[in-house]
Amino acid sequence: MKPHRIRVTHDLVTAYGMLDKMHILRAKRATPEVMSSFHTDEYVHFLQNVTPETAERMTFHGTRFLVGEDSPAFEGGGSIGAARKITSGAADIAINWAGGLHHAKKREASGFCYINDIVLGILELLRSYPRVLYIDIDCHHGDGVEEAFYTSNRVMTCSFHKFGEYFPGTGTQEDRGRGKGKGYAVNVPLKDGITDESYKSVFQPVISKILETFRPSAVVLQCGSDSLAGDKLGCFNLTMKGHAACVQFMRKQNIPLILLGGGGYTVKNVARTWAFETACALGIEDDIDLNLPWNQYFEWFGPRYRLEVAENNMEDLNVKDGSLERVREKALEQLRNLIPAPSVQMQDVPRESLQHHLGFAKDDETAPRDELDEELAKHVRYVYNLQEPDSSTDESSSSSESESEDESSSSISWRMQNRVNGRRASRSPMPPTSNRSRTSSKKQRMSLLTGQYFSI
Ligand SMILES: [Zn+2]
Repeated sequence: MKPHRIRVTHDLVTAYGMLDKMHILRAKRATPEVMSSFHTDEYVHFLQNVTPETAERMTFHGTRFLVGEDSPAFEGGGSIGAARKITSGAADIAINWAGGLHHAKKREASGFCYINDIVLGILELLRSYPRVLYIDIDCHHGDGVEEAFYTSNRVMTCSFHKFGEYFPGTGTQEDRGRGKGKGYAVNVPLKDGITDESYKSVFQPVISKILETFRPSAVVLQCGSDSLAGDKLGCFNLTMKGHAACVQFMRKQNIPLILLGGGGYTVKNVARTWAFETACALGIEDDIDLNLPWNQYFEWFGPRYRLEVAENNMEDLNVKDGSLERVREKALEQLRNLIPAPSVQMQDVPRESLQHHLGFAKDDETAPRDELDEELAKHVRYVYNLQEPDSSTDESSSSSESESEDESSSSISWRMQNRVNGRRASRSPMPPTSNRSRTSSKKQRMSLLTGQYFSI
């Protein structure tokens, strides 16, 4: 079963006749038996139960993962499949609107995002490409992906997000990466009401500078649509075309591109925007009729029945106090000081894909696992253990954080583990109440709805 907004998006894309213009890939799901051959039973159970819908809900309510849900799906398969299409050369652009789950927390609630589709997709790309750029235009900070690659110089993350009393409370311009990854995490914190024009005036120069200095071999663009005007949880003022301008800009660069979904809580606008962005990916956005074709959800799109998301009259606080300019300059300054892109020498030669490893593809089962697969499996088990309610290793390991700079390691997942352990103390900004899980058993979490902290 698909989440509703994915269904509506798919329906619009179908109604516009775009399906004939692209190759549709159905990500296969493996049987529990196949997955159990490599994973713990608990992990398999988790994979069977997690869905984008439960993910949203779990982030929303901050409940533990593995809470019962009767809609088995693992959309990570879609993003891994998208990455494989790119690395095999079969496609220049791949789309997975059901993917893009970018949030992560250390433990209970969304720690599962460490095995989110974005991280898995990027790992797949890293088998073939020396450097991958991750861009996040969701209204929320792309904390999970940033954290996963915080100590790596092979992945640059760049997130444009609302900052200040807003979930998840991270993503300042002082958070730039660590160790080898120092300078490779770029954050663009924004305020309420940003317009198309303002957004473009920071997105394009920052991304251009990244392309120039980092020279990525592939780009993953998370197109969270809660940055649109009128979103139920968002607070920006982007129109559909302003949002899609990011997609158009990236497509023009002629670098292999993966488009992923993400947040977006006003369903009809999410569907409009992702349908239009699908047209942008196909390069037919100027040819489609903005009067919506008949579709199953047609009545939802009244009273204008148009493919559009209009701006509203909210004030652009980024311009009002001049903060937009300061933020842009600071980001550009960071990029000017960046150590030049690492050499293109490859550490991992692709042999078996993550998709095989995870059991999403059933052919070719005898292919040997490589080091990356083994490390990923360890990592996955580690993350699972981390989320056990009574895990005592988590708290104790976090104290050993700052000395564990992992310069010597060539293993991505090993770095990610360190990252999980190492980030807690250095995370900024911490809210006033947030010496949370470290100093007491009283835990706090920020609400996706209100941006306020509450006890759990
Ligand atoms: Zn979001």
